Amino acid sequence: MNVGLTCDVVVVGAGMVGAACALYAARAGLDVILVDRGPVAGGTTGAGEGNLLVSDKEPGPELDLALLSGRLWGELAREFGAAIEYEAKGGVVVASSPGGLAALERFAEGQRAAGVVAEPVAGDTLYDLEPHLAPGLPGGVHYPQDRQVMPALAAAHLTRASGARLLTGRTVTAVLRTRDGAVRGVRTDRGDIHAPAIVNAAGTWGGELAALAGAHLPVLPRRGFVLVTEPLPPRKVRHKVYAADYVADVASDSAALQTSPVVEGTAAGPILIGASRERVGFDRTFSLPVVRALAAGATRLFPFLTDVRAMRSYLGFRPYMPDHLPAIGPDPRVPGLHHACGHEGAGIGLATGTGHLIAQALTAPGKTPDLDLTPFRPDRFTEEAA
Ligand SMILES: Cc1cc2nc3c(=O)[nH]c(=O)nc-3n(C[C@H](O)[C@H](O)[C@H](O)COP(=O)(O)OP(=O)(O)OC[C@H]3O[C@@H](n4cnc5c(N)ncnc54)[C@H](O)[C@@H]3O)c2cc1C
Repeated sequence: MNVGLTCDVVVVGAGMVGAACALYAARAGLDVILVDRGPVAGGTTGAGEGNLLVSDKEPGPELDLALLSGRLWGELAREFGAAIEYEAKGGVVVASSPGGLAALERFAEGQRAAGVVAEPVAGDTLYDLEPHLAPGLPGGVHYPQDRQVMPALAAAHLTRASGARLLTGRTVTAVLRTRDGAVRGVRTDRGDIHAPAIVNAAGTWGGELAALAGAHLPVLPRRGFVLVTEPLPPRKVRHKVYAADYVADVASDSAALQTSPVVEGTAAGPILIGASRERVGFDRTFSLPVVRALAAGATRLFPFLTDVRAMRSYLGFRPYMPDHLPAIGPDPRVPGLHHACGHEGAGIGLATGTGHLIAQALTAPGKTPDLDLTPFRPDRFTEEAA
């Protein structure tokens, strides 16, 4: 006889977003089970980078979520700090031409109006911030609120601190529903879990999980490669540094390959070089042209990297939604189903705000949440538009 487990809420997906949902839901007093078909951080969380950025976001709901998330990361840093390799290092966005700098400064002006600290940096001051940048750059913008964590460690520590029951190696195969359609749990390949609420934190596979509950959610994979150098002495690259055209790439709807240089040091020593974006399904084939383009972009920004060896590269699939916004909150089509997925290239940064808002929706559904969830509504897509 399969008696099954019982709890207040099942969180499906033990990536960064699921871990944050589990933490905030448990701290709000709920009995949580966190279930994943693989290990903690075995999805995109273990295959990306850990920048917590406000700098690349234009004014709007995603930036509001990033600012909320940044405040919450700051609180968690006091608790987890070095264990999750949290560094409030700041970001520097670099322009390569006077025209590019003017556009970057206009972008920063809008961000400042929305509450972002964005400090213009003239050409010579740029080299005080980043002494090893290529000579002759016209300037950039410094974003002190940009930070960094190590995503797999952050997901693991938040999961452990949540006290949630963690069930790894279990695939959710069905969503159990009452006769009137409300959620009553999930079926897994190793037994049922009964709960009146589910959080879909299945990342790039969030659309599949939604479909198990009969709900349409167009989450698509957007592939990205990361190039990892040999370990270097600290402070060769002091901030998260990227070229101004990165922002346009992030916002682009094109399925074609885009690369723009993003360079960051890590606590462990290697430098991580991104960022590529392309929609090629779940194709895991190594691409030399993409990795070459990443290396070329990074050495244009930091010429000393020409003499540094690349040790390896890896890839991941960002959970892409057609309007570049995640799905967060209750699904009006399926009572009890909540979504917390589709954060594309920002799911590490946005995880804390998402977890906090999901906990609010679960525990005080009638109350106004700290952020308006309307832009994140999971039912905002029609099937034809996907
Ligand atoms: C190259 C690259 C660089 C990136 N850089 C950054 C960055 O600097 N900053 C940033 O904020 N973000 C970055 N991202 C994006 C970030 O990694 C993702 O947005 C984030 O990891 C998504 O987390 P998640 O928890 O939603 O999904 P995931 O980590 O993918 O977790 C989803 C989990 O759900 C599980 N699952 C799915 N279906 C089922 C099922 N049926 N049953 C049980 N379990 C299931 C999966 O096994 C998986 O573990 C980057 C991504 C890439 C690819």
